[in-house]
Amino acid sequence: MSSFSLPLHPLTSYGWDDAWADEFAPYDAEGLLAGRVIRVDRGQCDVVTADGVMRADTSFVTPNDPLRVVCTGDWVAVEPTGNPRYVRTYLPRRTAFVRSTSSKRSEGQILAANVDYAVVAVSLAVELDLGRVERFLALAWESGAQPVVVLTKADLVPDPATLGHLVEDTGTTAPGVPVLPVSANTGEGLDVLEAVLSGGTTVLLGQSGAGKSTLANALLGEDVMEVQTTRDVDGKGRHTTTTRNLLALPGGGVLIDTPGLRGVGLWDAETGVGQVFAEIEQLATHCRFHDCAHTAEPGCAVLAAVDSGTLPERRLDSYRKLLRENQRIVAKTDARLRAEIRKDWKRKGAEGRAAMEAKRGRR
Ligand code: GDP
Ligand code: ZN
Repeated sequence: MSSFSLPLHPLTSYGWDDAWADEFAPYDAEGLLAGRVIRVDRGQCDVVTADGVMRADTSFVTPNDPLRVVCTGDWVAVEPTGNPRYVRTYLPRRTAFVRSTSSKRSEGQILAANVDYAVVAVSLAVELDLGRVERFLALAWESGAQPVVVLTKADLVPDPATLGHLVEDTGTTAPGVPVLPVSANTGEGLDVLEAVLSGGTTVLLGQSGAGKSTLANALLGEDVMEVQTTRDVDGKGRHTTTTRNLLALPGGGVLIDTPGLRGVGLWDAETGVGQVFAEIEQLATHCRFHDCAHTAEPGCAVLAAVDSGTLPERRLDSYRKLLRENQRIVAKTDARLRAEIRKDWKRKGAEGRAAMEAKRGRR
């Protein structure tokens, strides 16, 4: 009966779609294999292809730029033969999670590519820390992924009214972000979350203890993380536990879970901050000075909103704090962005010089 239906592409469950097929077409014409990177490891990576999982060497792709190395979640073109097989290239990334290194060398580290949903796990077992939620949301927006806040351990808040308030408070902090209460214990909310995540690739963010591993296992339907763990020997002859960092979810969608993504180090998140604090940025357009710092300036619309009670002072405080944090980090998402920033510095420098000259002229 269904003999006329076209077979699904074997990589569909890993997120392959028509747009990727189009991107890949020129490599397909050359006979290269399409695949998605499920793990990277010292110049090599594991790639899931239509022919199964294979190991490939990434040294061909890797120039000196740490943001241009192959990372988990990348779609790649792999040479059909050879020992080792080489990754020829990766397809242009739709989104990317980049962590700034804390070292002085202004280099970021790419942690995951082509992520559609950034689930921010927030535990209901402890008091809601909205400032922390905002921080995670900023880095989620910055990556290009859609954030989703998941309030975990909802079974610990048995009173529906209380739970409702917590969801509402979180929603106010997170404009444009769905907030879902879930419990891995009772299964509450998991169906909704599964449905949301079935449409793309997801990463789990959040504090240690927020319930990310438990959630991952619940979504995977069994302790797949455990099952997927294999032992191998590293360069020093030690046995190490290696894990597949990208998994297809049984309900559809893909989960990326890499150790580096779990913590929040220092992240570039300036545009993300703007999205989290959209209402403040909106108010700021009405400040008298376009570079108003909203501290003591006359005609400051942001301070006026705090005075009149429409903007909670706490919101302004976390906004300032996040911006300060970000300013300590030189943005480094990619070459294009770096070039833009340099342009901006040049422009600012020129403006500064012009202003100085104008002052001198007046004297
Ligand atoms: P992670 O550090 O974010 O990966 O957090 P874990 O998944 O390891 O969970 C931290 C703790 O929270 C563990 O003791 C879990 O058993 C507990 N936990 C996770 N999910 C739930 C839940 O839905 N309800 C309750 N009551 N406890 C949970
Ligand atoms: Zn202002």
